[in-house]
Amino acid sequence: MQEPALNLSPSPGDEFKTTTCYMCACRCGIRVWIKDGQIRYIQGNPEHPVNKGVLCAKGSAGIMQHYSPARLRKPLLRTGERGSGEFREIEWDEALALATSWLKPIRERNPDELAFFTGRDQSQALTGWWAQQFGTVNYAAHGGFCSVNMAAGGLYSIGGSFWEFGEPDWEHTHYFMLWGVAEDHDSNPIKLGLGKLKARGAKIVAINPVRTGYGAIADEWIGIRPGTDGLFAFALIHELLRADRIDLEYLVRYANAHWLVIRNPGGDDDGLFARDAEGHALCWASTPPQPSPSRCEREGAIAPTGSSQSAASSQPTAPSQPPTTAPSQPPAFAHSVDGDATPSLSHREGEGRGGVALADAIDIHPAVVGEYTLPDGRVAIPVFQLLAERYLDPQYSPDAVSERCGIPAGTIRRIAREMAEAAFDSNFSLPIAWTDSWGREHREMTGRPVAMHAMRGISAHSNGFHTCRALHVLQMLLGAVDAPGSFRYQPPFPKQVPPANRPGKARRDNGTLDAAPLGFVHGPEDLVVDADGRPKRIDHAFSWSYPLSAHGLLHTVIRNAHAGDPYRIDTLLMFMANMSWNSAMNTRETMRWLTDRDTNGEYRIPRIIYSDAYASEMVAYADLVLPDTTYLERHDAISLLDRPISDADGASDAIRHPVFDPATQPDSEGRARDVRGFQSVLLDLGARLGLPGMSNEDGSATYRDYADYMVHHERAPGVGLLAGWRGEDGSESGKGAPNPQQLQRYIEHGGFWHAPIPESARYYKMANRDYLQWAHRFGFIATTAPIVLQLYSETLQKFRLAAQGHGALQPPAEHRERVATYFDPLPIWHEPFEGAQTDSGTLPLSAITQRPMFMYHAWGSQNAWLRQIATRNVLYLHPHTAARYGIADEDWIEVSSHHGTITVRAKFAGNVQPDTVWTWNAIGKRKGAWKLAKDAPEAGQGFLLNHLISDITPRGDYANADPVTGQAAWFDLRVSIRKADTAGMSAPQFLPIAGDADTIRSLRYGEAMRRKDHG
Ligand code: SF4
Repeated sequence: MQEPALNLSPSPGDEFKTTTCYMCACRCGIRVWIKDGQIRYIQGNPEHPVNKGVLCAKGSAGIMQHYSPARLRKPLLRTGERGSGEFREIEWDEALALATSWLKPIRERNPDELAFFTGRDQSQALTGWWAQQFGTVNYAAHGGFCSVNMAAGGLYSIGGSFWEFGEPDWEHTHYFMLWGVAEDHDSNPIKLGLGKLKARGAKIVAINPVRTGYGAIADEWIGIRPGTDGLFAFALIHELLRADRIDLEYLVRYANAHWLVIRNPGGDDDGLFARDAEGHALCWASTPPQPSPSRCEREGAIAPTGSSQSAASSQPTAPSQPPTTAPSQPPAFAHSVDGDATPSLSHREGEGRGGVALADAIDIHPAVVGEYTLPDGRVAIPVFQLLAERYLDPQYSPDAVSERCGIPAGTIRRIAREMAEAAFDSNFSLPIAWTDSWGREHREMTGRPVAMHAMRGISAHSNGFHTCRALHVLQMLLGAVDAPGSFRYQPPFPKQVPPANRPGKARRDNGTLDAAPLGFVHGPEDLVVDADGRPKRIDHAFSWSYPLSAHGLLHTVIRNAHAGDPYRIDTLLMFMANMSWNSAMNTRETMRWLTDRDTNGEYRIPRIIYSDAYASEMVAYADLVLPDTTYLERHDAISLLDRPISDADGASDAIRHPVFDPATQPDSEGRARDVRGFQSVLLDLGARLGLPGMSNEDGSATYRDYADYMVHHERAPGVGLLAGWRGEDGSESGKGAPNPQQLQRYIEHGGFWHAPIPESARYYKMANRDYLQWAHRFGFIATTAPIVLQLYSETLQKFRLAAQGHGALQPPAEHRERVATYFDPLPIWHEPFEGAQTDSGTLPLSAITQRPMFMYHAWGSQNAWLRQIATRNVLYLHPHTAARYGIADEDWIEVSSHHGTITVRAKFAGNVQPDTVWTWNAIGKRKGAWKLAKDAPEAGQGFLLNHLISDITPRGDYANADPVTGQAAWFDLRVSIRKADTAGMSAPQFLPIAGDADTIRSLRYGEAMRRKDHG
């Protein structure tokens, strides 16, 4: 019998369109295959620099996101009580006229009465600019409750950070440490990278209370107790210092190890850097500074060729017992002096005389330990001396931290030893010649093959900022920042430390803010506070409460808006932020604040405008709903001005462009949808409001829509949202005049643009002349000056001095002690607030929540295909822990915190540190939301850990947040557990949201295709 002819490679569709995935924040390139006008298949784009063809389960399930029954259909105007979910559909003209009538008087009266906050959207370059043009300081995106500690910790230390700022050197690292990683930060790029490490046999160490996802394939899992990562890092630093296993040459070349810090207890300059009259940092050099060499003299200098750390090992001057008084023979570091091919690190007999020198001078021997008298008589100490004094203290020894961290001291010592061996003993280097910022030519790039990646798990604690800084100090000590094999910056990073852009706070004559509302404060003078030091922002960002809140505080907005603290607002405009459910702490109260009325019967938050593509829990709390499109129906810019998708070898940006016109995509009931991309709506509103930059003199709109803005808007001359194919003929990159054909060029090139970094510029970017010139040409950095890594943060010290009573701007009394305590210029560790303020006998366990790899917050957990993986979540706990409390597998249990009690189902898991319980985030849904069936397991058996998490500390005197950045401390939660008296349903349950959940038909995707395919 003849075999039937089989087509082993059927085409998935009639055609494909390339765009960018939006099923999580990685922004992989995708090909959307279309057949008979419907999506047939989503494929990873093999050409795309982010994912190189790889697609994850979420990305594939984008089909169900596009056809989701939960898609909104038309603008909605509230008809019932706020929160009931009762609306009537209205036309766009009415919706936009209404929004304009609400916003126009605000702009004329006081723009700060508009609070504009967005969730996980990817258009902050637009939304932040829009807020600036409106003139409100009250703008932020979701970073304050996500991972601002990670971003700020990095940007205030090394001018970059993990994830969107940098990546491990997947090709070369020998030792990779994953710290507390949230599983979608990053997603496909990390999977690709982990595959490379596995293939090469590099060691992967996962430090996380829970072993899931990437940790599951690690060679070693360190089940650390939540909130103790900083202590663990300090113990590693302690061991490296004690064993002289650090890279002093690197620390002096690229960091501020040798910068002199003034020691003047009680003085207003105590802890600041010693500087010359022009403000340049000074060091102590045992060879008097030479006149600055000319460029050609510098270029004649010879570079190091080998591992400097070996010199440190053989001639240890890194102080295992650092002197506390002026040494008669200060150790000195040969900073590429006299053409020595291998700079040496040595005590130099008889070189105690010395003098001050510019810290960035070359041909000097700067001291890294000791105590020195400046020409003006003040005493100063090198940063490294302070650092060594701090971390060599016995309180940071492995034995001292072991029990608190839950890690055996021997393991800590071994990990430190393994890191040092990987960094220094492999003698790994790349044969790539390069030139540093001072013109010195190097024949090769010295490797330090220890890489790290970290994310929310370590940052979402009230001690997270300092923990993130601690990791960067650890990297710096190993010389493992942008060296081959280590962490690598992704353009446009590194940036100057801290980045130059300060938060806007004053309004110009035309009503716009003087700068974007978010930025980086450099000192008290940049705070957004009034003359009495009180916050001027509704979220209290950049106030004495949370001075370095670079991403704002989305998690404080609703409480403060309800309380009128510091003032009443008129309108809350939100986009893609599910603030009445999984994006809120203190969920029950948040819902009350959103619906509470004042004594006049008016809502305390008078108006709420909300935009989303889906019927999330938050939609019910809006007065006006502006329906967004799906990600396959709109334009987006994945911009270098925003959250870039570059990799360490090149700069990239990308677009989304409509695969479908939403008018042709009916809802699941077959009804026409009338939805618009929020970004286009925002520009339309801006034009109607007459905002500068969005409206012309004749009142017409400057931009047709977001696509038009992406092409024609210039943030600075020649700089727009997209860097590719600029210039009138599309021949320029980075900077150039707008190109009317730019989007077409992107579409022709697969939806993305990529500019490779020259080979000589790919490492040591902070002081690599070729890189800095390349980055400057693209407009990523303002100057080509080297970027100095900051072991010691003078910015933090300026705040501490203010809190100690120095300077013109000082914190109000209630903030002094906190600022003085937590603004330490060197990383510190403190017990997370919730643990410190509750009784560990009553609340003995930590509880954490993390996103499942197969979902992205609430977006994924309403997706028909992803729901088949999990429709309910459980609380995982170690069997030994369960036995302690008399709990059996799958029992229903009560979980209590200082804030409340929930009832959930327990499940045994051996992959969790025994003092920790955990669950998946955002699977639990409120009945009636997301157009799920009324008996959907997500509502009946799923749950939110958020119901247990307060938005304030147990003492009630501060946000449940980091005291430096205000980052929400989700992972500080402490709980107790007991067997529940009831079973079968999770608690609390809230009143169902009104809607047509029980009228919708089943989603029948593919039925017609199958019938056609099979005749
Ligand atoms: S990793 Fe994220 S962006 Fe990439 S395919 Fe998966 S869901 Fe899409």
